[in-house]
Amino acid sequence: MRQSLAFILMISLAGLQFLAILIVVFTTFVTSERAMLKHALGLMSQAGNNATEHTRLFLKPAQDLAKQATGMLTSGIIDANDHDALEQLLFQQVLSEPQVAGVYYGDEAGNFVYLMRSDGPGPVRTKIISHEDGGRSTEFVWRNTAFELVSEAIDPSDRFDPRKRPWYQSAASAKQPVWTDPYVFFSSRRPGITAAVPVILSDGTLQGVVGVDIELDAISQFLSELTISAGSTALILNENGEVIAHPASDQIVVQNEDKTIRFVGINEINDPVANAAFGKLAQSGPLAITGEVRSELEHDKESYLTLLAPIKGHDLPWTIAIHAPENDFVQGIKDNRRRNIWIAAIISLVTAIAGLMLAEVILRPVRAFAVRTSLVSQGEVSADTPLPKTYQELKRANETLIHEISQRRESEKRQRDLSRQLFHFSRVDMMGQLATGLAHELSQPITAITQNVDAAISTAAKMKDINPELMQILSELDDQAHRGGDIIAALRGLVRKDEGQFVAFEFEDLLDQSLKIVQHEADINSVQLVKSNVTQHQVLANRVQIAQVLINLMHNAIEAMTMAKTQSREILISARPQNSFLEVWVEDSGPGVAPDQPLFRHFETSKTDGMGFGLSISKTIIEANGGHLWYDHESRNTSRFCFTLPLLSTGLES
Ligand code: ADP
Repeated sequence: MRQSLAFILMISLAGLQFLAILIVVFTTFVTSERAMLKHALGLMSQAGNNATEHTRLFLKPAQDLAKQATGMLTSGIIDANDHDALEQLLFQQVLSEPQVAGVYYGDEAGNFVYLMRSDGPGPVRTKIISHEDGGRSTEFVWRNTAFELVSEAIDPSDRFDPRKRPWYQSAASAKQPVWTDPYVFFSSRRPGITAAVPVILSDGTLQGVVGVDIELDAISQFLSELTISAGSTALILNENGEVIAHPASDQIVVQNEDKTIRFVGINEINDPVANAAFGKLAQSGPLAITGEVRSELEHDKESYLTLLAPIKGHDLPWTIAIHAPENDFVQGIKDNRRRNIWIAAIISLVTAIAGLMLAEVILRPVRAFAVRTSLVSQGEVSADTPLPKTYQELKRANETLIHEISQRRESEKRQRDLSRQLFHFSRVDMMGQLATGLAHELSQPITAITQNVDAAISTAAKMKDINPELMQILSELDDQAHRGGDIIAALRGLVRKDEGQFVAFEFEDLLDQSLKIVQHEADINSVQLVKSNVTQHQVLANRVQIAQVLINLMHNAIEAMTMAKTQSREILISARPQNSFLEVWVEDSGPGVAPDQPLFRHFETSKTDGMGFGLSISKTIIEANGGHLWYDHESRNTSRFCFTLPLLSTGLES
């Protein structure tokens, strides 16, 4: 009981605690994870907008510069054929914005004035291709930031023709400002984009095209600085699914076999997450995103958030793509969850120990109660003894239990009385039947013997010269015949309980009768029956029953001495008044009752053919006659059974 209750308490407390904390941890985790992911997608969307805005601000000046130059050329403020003036205008423009890599003007005649930032002898290099008098010259000039000449050179081998370049052709055919597709610049070999604006005269003829170059590395640089999370990457794709800007800017161009240079496709770039997230989009035709597309991706056992958004406002069919590991946003709360589970486990352990201690405290009175109950049931503690300080519930349970126990003991006592009665009656009944049969069989021949002996005596008395020895024999025969009759009568009286009434009688007379019955058994076993110190005392009892007890005790004594082969065999019967009782002792010189021999209990016998009924029946009889029967354990070298009988009141006795 102790273990199971303690265990249940411990497990219940710890289990409930653990469950409760887990529920809190997991619900908190799920809600905060959802909130974090939502927040993360918001961050990504914001980053997408940033990138779009940045790109727009980055590209706008290029178009503005191209339009400004075109305006000056069409209005005649600058003469397109005045290469010096043109160079001065473009010089100012190329230095005006840091992202501008080069500014140029090419015309229908193939003339070309091109200013670009340079790593050469001066920070700005001018390339001028002129066609004069049917000849062509290509001249290079390097200037410092104050437009002072630093160095100059000519290149007779130059074959560059502006009219064949993509920027010129797209602006010329569109007849309006355009953005070229990203391409690799002729001079710097870097990927870039050109804002090209056609110079159209008032009569509608095309005079030339102004172009402003922007190198895309700068956008890549910006993207690499755009921090959304530790592991996030943002890139820009064109409508062909080619990567035109990526934090790893050196990876976005590759050389074809024919030495030409091209952008890598989204499937080719060394960015496995981008390949997995956006690769399929590029395979299904031109990439055309009209609005923001958010999604999630499982890659290499990790979860990623992805976002695609169009770059609006520039007629550029570009798309910004962002991917970021989910853990960048939720790792913190995952760590927190793990920490919380540990805390839950520790708290549960502490709770379990507390539960165990609590169970101990709760069970202590319960155990005390159980011990007390068992002591009460064994009769070692009275049920009335106040219950030790304990719980109210236990007190009530105790009262109920005590009630049950006392009822059970009462009914057990009633187990026992009934059973004793039954044994008694069965034995008495059996002996009664035997004795009745015997008495019936013997009474007739004994009566015949008595009558014949009486007749023989009276006949002999009338004879003369009767031999006195014969008369003596006849007289003894008469005595014995009468004694036999008495025995038969006593036997019949002895065994028929219902026949016996409580009567006053001389104890010694009854003892003499009983001695007669056992005398024969005593003789053949060489036992001497000695009556000692028995004076006349009147007792009030059932005669035959008391005789039965005396015979039982003497019979037991004869058997004990015979079995133990005792040398001197003697049974001493004495009787003395004690207060209002006569106390009778039946002592023998036998071995005494073995210390481990239970007495006065049915079936407890040391004899192979014994039944263990004699003493218990005797005790029942004596008690039914108002006395007690016991074995005197104090007696040394003898076994002494004692019983008492109520004396007839002294008034009567006197
Ligand atoms: P039973 O005679 O059938 O054994 P009893 O109830 O008369 O049944 O006796 C019970 C036991 O008590 C006997 O078996 C014997 O061991 C013991 N006992 C009784 N009287 C004596 C005696 N006088 N001396 C020694 N042992 C005795």
